[in-house]
This record gives sequence, structure tokens and C-alpha cells, in this order.
Amino acid sequence: MLNRLSLYDTKSRQNLEVQDEDGLVKIYCCGPTVYRPAHVGNLRTFLLADLIKKTLELNGLAVKLVQNITDVGHMTEDVEEEDKILSQSALEKVDPFSLARKYELIFHNDLALLNIAKADLYPRASESIALMHELIAELLKKNHAYIGSDGCVYFDAKSFPNYGQVSGNRLDALKPGHRYEYTEGGAKRFHADWALWKIATHRTEMIWDSPWGSGFPGWHIECSAMSLEYLGKRIDVHVGGIDLRFPHHENERAQSDAITGTDTVLLWSHGEHLLFEGRKMSKSANNVLLLSEVIEGGYDPLSIRLAFLENRYRMQMDLTWSAISAAHTTLKRWRALVNPYRNISVANNAEVLETINKDLDTPRLISLLRSAEKDMSRTSEEKAALFLYADKVLGLDLGRQEIIKPLPNDVAETLKQREIARREKNWEESDRLRKILESNGLIIKDTAATQEWEWR
Ligand SMILES: [Zn+2]
Repeated sequence: MLNRLSLYDTKSRQNLEVQDEDGLVKIYCCGPTVYRPAHVGNLRTFLLADLIKKTLELNGLAVKLVQNITDVGHMTEDVEEEDKILSQSALEKVDPFSLARKYELIFHNDLALLNIAKADLYPRASESIALMHELIAELLKKNHAYIGSDGCVYFDAKSFPNYGQVSGNRLDALKPGHRYEYTEGGAKRFHADWALWKIATHRTEMIWDSPWGSGFPGWHIECSAMSLEYLGKRIDVHVGGIDLRFPHHENERAQSDAITGTDTVLLWSHGEHLLFEGRKMSKSANNVLLLSEVIEGGYDPLSIRLAFLENRYRMQMDLTWSAISAAHTTLKRWRALVNPYRNISVANNAEVLETINKDLDTPRLISLLRSAEKDMSRTSEEKAALFLYADKVLGLDLGRQEIIKPLPNDVAETLKQREIARREKNWEESDRLRKILESNGLIIKDTAATQEWEWR
């Protein structure tokens, strides 16, 4: 194939062509820890997996995508580390499994609202315990793991000489006492070793029997167990947020490669951080935006998708309300252009394919559409065909007919009052009423003859 998708590989620090086996590309994407709704920064990472999948499909390849659900073993990074699911379930006073199922459902709903295609499989960590036991037993047998003085099973980082190649962290440069070092006292042989199986001690919920005693799995072993089980010993693309690069992906790589004896993952793809209104998006900084808040603000959830696509996935991006609002308006304009032609047959477009194949250059693709939109030499039908083809990757529902929400009676009445105020040149009253209309979600445009309105 002349033209195929290349992606930036974090490990080799260069663009690599995505490989396939007999036309099938196998992708693993680290999924959510389901103890709260994913914020839109998390959703940007899940969108990355979707863009890769849709682009490969546009290239005629088949994709198998597996995304795990972490519902046990992901610990907080505080001194007193705690399972994120268990601490939230204590706060919400619900059973930890019900809590996990609740946020898992919200996760799936959010993906659907963003037109993120379903993965082929969403294995849950809590239902993959036996797989993890098999892996841990094998790592012990191969001397890549040992039982610490506290009875927990640890991975022996020094037994994997290639450790650190994804993040550029070298074992001998890792100082003890950083946040990668869980608080296991002196039970580990080396500070960068990590737990594969933790002994329950005082914990009574979300624990399982094991050959090493009752306990629960470490977070990193989950992803090795699920990716190897459902995708096999070769994974063409591994996707995740940049914050998972270390230690999560380093540890996952060490575990998986120690089992397979080879470079299991051919390409490591990472999505960059998202800022919101200029600040890091994080719960602790109290600067988190949820998709539900975007919808409550009166915006099409796909305006978030468009706002993301206007930025390269591996560039840090600052999301703002004004960018969301602008994307919302663009979507409406594009749908008005495309909708009358939504059933035309759409030919392949080499320029679109080439653009997206170059490390998912969505900003260039969007600007291509913007210039086509303004191009007087093209017919509307030609423009619509281009937009519809690009939409196979962009996923913005450009063929959709905008359903205009009817005006509630009181808002219609306010519009009428404002029309009268304008006719009477009562500008003060007209401005007052305008503010009321805007707070009801309307955009008002005054012309010499009349006032026009649309929903925001
Ligand atoms: Zn993972």
C-alpha cells in the first residue's frame, strides 16, 4: 500500500508506520478507572484511539481494539495509599462494585456522545484476576518476580535490563521516595520494584484468594494480563494518556516483554495533556470539565470533538469555553451545507487520506475543509462530498439534520416584546430583553429590518 498511517512512537521518538497482520491491526488502549466521571481531558485520550481506528478503517484495514476497565488496584498517590474505587465507595456509601458499574456506564455514554466507536472488548480488571494469577506465577518462575518480606509479590525491575525506554527513565537514575515508589516499607528489594499482588492485611472488600494469600492485584499487571489475553503476544499500537507513560506503561512493558520474550508493543502512542482555560485539568486543582457540563451549557457534545480535532493530539492544548462555542457554530454551519446531500455517493479523497495518514494531522484536515467551504469554484455538492468523506474520520455527524428546538412560550413572548421595543426605539428596554434572551440560550442578530435569532 502506497499510503498508510504513520504515528509518532514515544519509544523510538520517531514516526512509524502502523503495522498489520493479514490486514488486521491490534490496538490496546488503557481505559478509565471507574471511580468518577471521566473529564474531557481523559476523553481526549479515548478519542485518540478512535481516530487511529477510524483512519485505519478508511485505509481498508480491519481493527481489533481492546480497552480495559480498571475497577480494582489503582491506588491513590497519597502517603496513605488507598484503592481509588474503595475510597470513593466509602464516600458515596455504596458497594464498590455498584460504584464501578455506575461510572462505567457514564463512561460508555460519554463515548457514545462523542461518536467514539465501541471497542471490540472492554474487559474488567475485577473479572481478570485468574489471568493475572497466571502471569504472576510465570513471572515468578522466570525470576522476574519475587515474594517480598511482607508476603506481596513484586516485579524485579533490575531483571528487565531494557527498563525505561518508553519514558527515558533509567533505573539507576530513579531516586527512591518519588511517587512511583509505593509505600511498602522495606519489603521490596529495590525501590523501583512494584507490586504485582498485594496481600489484603486489613482490607476486607475487593479481595481474592491467590496462591500467595488473599489480596488484590497491582494496577500495572492488569493491562499486561488483559492485553496479552485478548490481543496475543503482538500489539500493533498501544494507546494512552501521556501521564501513563511512567510508571504505568514502563511497568506494563517490562511485565509483558518478560513473558513474551520480545518487544510486545510495536508502537507506543500517547495523547498530550489538556488544559482548561489556561490551567491543568485536574480534580485536585478544582479545574475539571465534564461532558455533561458542556451539554448543560447548551452545546452539542460533538463541539468538544471538533475543538479537540483542531489541535494535534500530541500537542498540549488549552480548551476554552469560547473555543467550544465557536466549534458549536461551525458544526451547525457545516451541517447546513452537507445535509441536503447526505445521501450522495462519496468517492475516496486522496488529499484527505494523505493528510490524516500523516500522524493524524487533524488541524490540517480541518483547515482543508475551511478553505473548501470558502472556495467559490466548487459546487455545494462537491463540497458536501469532501466533507462527508472527511467525516468518516472526523466523526462530527456532518450529514445530520439540525433539529431546531421549538421556542418556549415565554421566550417567544420576550422576542415579541423586544421587537416592539426596537420599533419604539426604546434601546434600554431592548438591551434588557436581549440579555434575558441570551441567558435562555439564544443568539440575537439585529438587522436594519428586524431581529434574527438562533439557538446557541
Ligand atoms: Zn494500562
